[in-house]
Amino acid sequence: MFHLIAFGLCAALYFLPSIVGRAKRNFPAIFMLNLFLGWTVIGWIVALIWASTADFPVPATPAHPSCSVCRTPIQAGQNFCPHCGSRLTWPQGTPA
Ligand SMILES: [Zn+2]
Repeated sequence: MFHLIAFGLCAALYFLPSIVGRAKRNFPAIFMLNLFLGWTVIGWIVALIWASTADFPVPATPAHPSCSVCRTPIQAGQNFCPHCGSRLTWPQGTPA
């Protein structure tokens, strides 16, 4: 009986990074790292750190940008709205 409890505790400790990172978007990758490289200790620590870090934020630029004046869908990189002619501003990092 004691062996079962000890085994359960060891398994829970071994898969701690996967348990911590179970809500992450890249949980499958964390689990793989934990499963295959957890025994190297380094892999276990990396998996735990990875599981503890915040998810990368979803890019703020919408998939279908629209004119801020008339809400007409526009193509990324245009400087003026083809519908109302107003000047378009793009967040930094978007190719002009
Ligand atoms: Zn417009």
